[in-house]
Amino acid sequence: MSNYNWCHGPNCHTQETQSRVRGSGDNKVLRTRRIKEDSNYRTHERYNMFNYFCGNNCLFDYIRLHLQEIVNIAPRREALETPIKVVKEKYESQRYEWNGDNSRYVPYTATRTTIKSVDNDNG
Ligand SMILES: [Zn+2]
Repeated sequence: MSNYNWCHGPNCHTQETQSRVRGSGDNKVLRTRRIKEDSNYRTHERYNMFNYFCGNNCLFDYIRLHLQEIVNIAPRREALETPIKVVKEKYESQRYEWNGDNSRYVPYTATRTTIKSVDNDNG
């Protein structure tokens, strides 16, 4: 069984590439690319976006054309938050100093800020 999808890019059939040329004689056309499902080299995941789009250009053309409808599927009405701890640590470092004649390393205490995730029971 070979399932396939037509590329969903709205402009796919306007791109001038040999791979899209179909027909014979004076009846030639540029045709939307056909994508064999589950057989493309990118991945074998069934719901991978590249089962529906032949490439990034067609994917983004589709998103641009249908952006509002896509966003309406799962609108974000509030900000999400991830609990974290912000840890500030002091550590000994050195900076390079040049006075015109000589150079030397001068020690100083630097500060490093690290964001750490917090374990919670929500998994
Ligand atoms: Zn396409």
